Amino acid sequence: MFALIDPLLIVIALIICITGLVRRARLWKIGQKAEHIENIGLRIKDFLIYGIGQAKILKELYPGLMHFFIFFACLIPLLVIFASQATLHLPVVFANYFSVFLDLLGAAGLIAVLLAAFRRYIQKPERLDDTGKDDAIALVWLFVIISLGFCIEGLRISITGADARWAPVGAVFSYAFLPFGTQLQLFLHSFFWRIHFFLVLALIACITYTKFLHIFTSALNIFLRKYGSPGQLRGIDFGTAETYGVSNIEEFTTTQLFNLDACTRCGRCQDNCPAHLSDKPLSPKKLLQDMKKHMEEKTADRSKDKDKSLIGDIVSHETLWSCTMCLSCHSQCPVFDTTVDKTIELRRYLVMTEPNFPGEVQAVFKNMENNSNPWGVGAHTRGDWTKELGVKTASEADSFDILFYPGCAGAFDDRYKKVSIALTQILRKAGVNFAVLGAEEGCCGDSARRLGNEYLYETLAQTNIEVMKNYNVNKILTICPHCFNSLKNDYPMYGSEFEVLHHSEFLMKLISNGSIKLKSSENMKVAYHDSCFLGRYNDIYDYPRDVLQSISGINLVEMDRNRDKSFCCGAGGGRMWMEEDIGKRINEMRTDQALDKNPDAIATACPYCLTMIDDGLKVREKSDSVKSLDIAEFIVKAME
Ligand code: SF4
Ligand code: SF4
Repeated sequence: MFALIDPLLIVIALIICITGLVRRARLWKIGQKAEHIENIGLRIKDFLIYGIGQAKILKELYPGLMHFFIFFACLIPLLVIFASQATLHLPVVFANYFSVFLDLLGAAGLIAVLLAAFRRYIQKPERLDDTGKDDAIALVWLFVIISLGFCIEGLRISITGADARWAPVGAVFSYAFLPFGTQLQLFLHSFFWRIHFFLVLALIACITYTKFLHIFTSALNIFLRKYGSPGQLRGIDFGTAETYGVSNIEEFTTTQLFNLDACTRCGRCQDNCPAHLSDKPLSPKKLLQDMKKHMEEKTADRSKDKDKSLIGDIVSHETLWSCTMCLSCHSQCPVFDTTVDKTIELRRYLVMTEPNFPGEVQAVFKNMENNSNPWGVGAHTRGDWTKELGVKTASEADSFDILFYPGCAGAFDDRYKKVSIALTQILRKAGVNFAVLGAEEGCCGDSARRLGNEYLYETLAQTNIEVMKNYNVNKILTICPHCFNSLKNDYPMYGSEFEVLHHSEFLMKLISNGSIKLKSSENMKVAYHDSCFLGRYNDIYDYPRDVLQSISGINLVEMDRNRDKSFCCGAGGGRMWMEEDIGKRINEMRTDQALDKNPDAIATACPYCLTMIDDGLKVREKSDSVKSLDIAEFIVKAME
């Protein structure tokens, strides 16, 4: 009888599972058409590495290994079918070793389930703050399935007297059944086998209705992930768009909505989110989960929350404006989920369509519009910092190899002008043929873009590109990672083809090719703070460190949060220009993290970071004992 019913039950379970997936797909399809998917080969490779191989999950060993073994233990039923087919054609020894492998994999899975329960319910890490009933059900379910599998194995060994060497863990379970008579063992074997079979079928049927859904969505999300510069944003066609940004969940693309479903609630993102850790009302995990719930309610037939507004009811204004766009959440997420693209769309709506945004942001936009810099200093004075240095502008120079683009901070901010001057001295000493744009230079527009004013950003970008093209610029040297990122990764959207370098890379080249010679500095312990826009946005972690380490006497120390886990200074995403009146001050937290290492100096390679660390040192009354310097200032001091 079972020979007929069992295949039918398997088909029913699969139908229920697929029906759930189809119903789920209806949610994602309420979104706008997504971009075309390219790079299929690369996507398959990444799917295998990050989806099946779980490379990013394994970056954290304890939860990583736990997840890895639970995942593969879930595949045991499939592997058993594979093994039973394979052993028909392969030598017995293969079946034996494969049996040991499955046995040990099951044991690892069982231990991993117990450790997961221990972690979630005893250790209770802060990032698992939204543990619910479904988490407990999933763990119990897996525990029972794997344990029953071992009971069946143990009974088989007891009944048949099979060689216990090829199922060592099953053999341990077999001891529990030894006192029973053969009849009872036979009964228990078939009874457990049935229960096990039903539980596995139920699991298959429920995958798409429970938290197990992420087996599909996370893997597919990895396949669908965005390639290219990680901070790149979608442009707007101002000629055709009727509204700007997103104010309804349906205005996100299907891929963005799918993103929401792929979030596994692991909480790795919030563990390193500067906004969350400084007690702002923003957790990237919660942001995605809230929007996911809203997506479900929007498509539900009956829901009292159907008419809630995305901005305000679901995502508060404070949440939206708390993000520093540090990209840490993107970098930590094992399934390549993204939040910044969504936050930006909501900001765009508030800024360009409504408009409804903080007053201080309004002033920044005005300053950028009128004087092409956030401070609103007269645009005609932009080149004044070069006057006493006699640096030629592009219009004065006969020819030049590289355009030095100091950006707004390098041109207007008194502290950062010193960095522009230091770099100028280095370039001169190294014999670099360079020029600046002087008063013709404009703001790169990064802050406008991150604050949601895409229109202003586009205007600034196009003006800069036009000026640069007029002077046949090929190569640009920047000191600000925000300018660097805009010119390198964002401007090509408007047809620019410049080679853009950050000064950390350029300095390292000058040091490596002997263009500048360095003497020893005083013995100094230096803590280097990674800029988000240099590190996570552009994967530049080594150049600034190499520059510092090329000076003998400098002892470089790493802060606990460094490289791709670096903690933001608090100024990105336009936050540089906004009040920080909720929670702790991010720049003070970062300064404290640096001070924990007892450095003589804190090194930075970004004007925003320098300002934020400077301010942090002032608040901690450490400005006299701990220096805060840009990497170019270390070099200029060490030059022969
Ligand atoms: S980009 Fe940074 S601040 Fe914004 S949500 Fe992600 S981790 Fe938090
Ligand atoms: S967004 Fe990614 S890192 Fe954050 S909870 Fe979801 S899956 Fe985990």
